[in-house]
Amino acid sequence: MSWRLHGIGASPGRAFGPALRVEWDIVSVPHRTISPEEVDLEIERFQGARSWAKEQIWRLQAETSERIGPVEGKIFEAQAMMLDDPDLVGGTASYIRENFLPAERAFDWRLLELRSRFADTAHVMALDRLADLRDIRFRVLSRLLGLAEGSVLSSLPVGGCILLFDELTPSLAVGLGDKEVRGLLTATGSRASHSAVIARSLRIPCVVGIGPDLDEVQDRAPVILDGATGRVIVEPTETEKDTYRRSDVQTTARKRRLEELAHRVTLTRDGERVVLQANLDQPDDAAGALEVGAEGVGLFRSEFLVIGRRTIPSEDEQYEAYRQVAEAFPRHGVTLRTFDIGGDKFPIFLSMPMEENPYLGWRAIRVCLDLPDLFRNQLRAAVRAAAHGRVRILLPFIVASDEIRRTREILDEVSASLDVPPEEPLPLGIMIETPAALETVDLLAPHVDFLSLGTNDLTQYALAVDRGNARLVDLFDPLHPALFRMYGRLIEAAGTQGIDVGVCGDLAEDPIGVVALLALGYRRFSLAPPSHPEIKEVVLGVSASDLSGVMKGLANADQPSDIRGPFRRYLEETLPEVPELLARLSAV
Ligand code: PEP
Ligand code: MG
Repeated sequence: MSWRLHGIGASPGRAFGPALRVEWDIVSVPHRTISPEEVDLEIERFQGARSWAKEQIWRLQAETSERIGPVEGKIFEAQAMMLDDPDLVGGTASYIRENFLPAERAFDWRLLELRSRFADTAHVMALDRLADLRDIRFRVLSRLLGLAEGSVLSSLPVGGCILLFDELTPSLAVGLGDKEVRGLLTATGSRASHSAVIARSLRIPCVVGIGPDLDEVQDRAPVILDGATGRVIVEPTETEKDTYRRSDVQTTARKRRLEELAHRVTLTRDGERVVLQANLDQPDDAAGALEVGAEGVGLFRSEFLVIGRRTIPSEDEQYEAYRQVAEAFPRHGVTLRTFDIGGDKFPIFLSMPMEENPYLGWRAIRVCLDLPDLFRNQLRAAVRAAAHGRVRILLPFIVASDEIRRTREILDEVSASLDVPPEEPLPLGIMIETPAALETVDLLAPHVDFLSLGTNDLTQYALAVDRGNARLVDLFDPLHPALFRMYGRLIEAAGTQGIDVGVCGDLAEDPIGVVALLALGYRRFSLAPPSHPEIKEVVLGVSASDLSGVMKGLANADQPSDIRGPFRRYLEETLPEVPELLARLSAV
């Protein structure tokens, strides 16, 4: 009998395979005491293990930068610096000296204290710190206890499996690169966790934040997961397996068919032009976006350059990153979103306060306007990059025109301060991702050049459903009638104001979602590169005027299924030649 788990989709892609639980931690450290004569020797042993661990981490940092990317490499800087923390080093030494504990026990005690500072909280902001502490604990204790060195993963037959972790640390995640792992499920973590960033870069489908229910999965149990929606089927029935197999885009014939679409102009069957752009987290993702034929970058999430970093990236470093993306798309350009930090994205260098409700807290534009040096640096880097391509600036989490006005002042000031100021001001746009922005779009639009609908945050704020809470995943539906009406009002208001509006939220990655948005009149979508081929296939296969017809029956829709149902039926009738897509609609 099959059963289901829910988590947060953290790295897109579907996978099917046997579950393999990875138990990797050192559960307990044997208790003993030392004699006063042994104190100096134990302190020396601790210092030796610490230096060794630091060396290992720096090596991992260099290898990761080389193999995966510099952004991912930076994640390890924080760990190396933790090992220099005077609180940790001094505290361990005093436990050895004053309590006559051996090095491993003293270090473990001290770490336990540091962990408990974060551990009592469910805050996503603390999760990466905890994962880092766990990573360094494992490294230093393995050395002190003389346990086998080398990756935990090298002793396990992980190839072809779906791996289950209670917590996936960055060190474990980078070790997965060459192991042919099919997918990952974790009990903890968020979409912005460092290990999720790494999983996305390695293109391993991943669902995080499943919680203690993950323990119920038996080793070797067959599992199907969808890393986009966060849905998991354990011990699927034969029918479910069959549905999955038919939806598997990896079948060669289908893959080839989808690849051929990359360079076709995106037109609906009745000739409506649609623009498909890319959502990128990192500059290196630009190559994948070019491969799928993206017409520029509709959302570059610049905050992934800073999360996990111990230091603020310099203006020059940012300039290089933005320039790289702008140069990759000389014709269509890049929409650079200013730092959306806060919420579940937590940069270490800001020492952000713990907040009860981080998604309702000091986030995004609020942080940038409160820290003008940080903001000025970013905007200067963006304006400089614009000399090498087309760059538009997009502001996240806007609720009032004052935020736009203040940003424009800084943007004008940094533009004027350059040796060669830009001839034209950079286009400035805002995310429509709060109900406040959506309801007052007539007041905001006159201040900006374009709008971008963020269905992910708009869904969480309109439905009062935390997007990071796996328990509420069934309630988090961006096609709830309230939202569908909001999208309709937005496109209408944008038409009245004569302003361009695109969609960069994940709804555009869902085949039903994208046709619903097409039906409302949206024509510009920005989505993660792996979703492009399938969504392009949908757009090429549907007719905009047919979709307006489907719309007519939806005025009284009072639940998401009333909206999804008619669009699903339309797709089933219109695209019967694409059994894989239809299988996907009911797969996971
Ligand atoms: C959104 O909120 O829809 C969006 C695209 O931004 P993010 O997912 O980065 O918050
Ligand atoms: Mg958002």
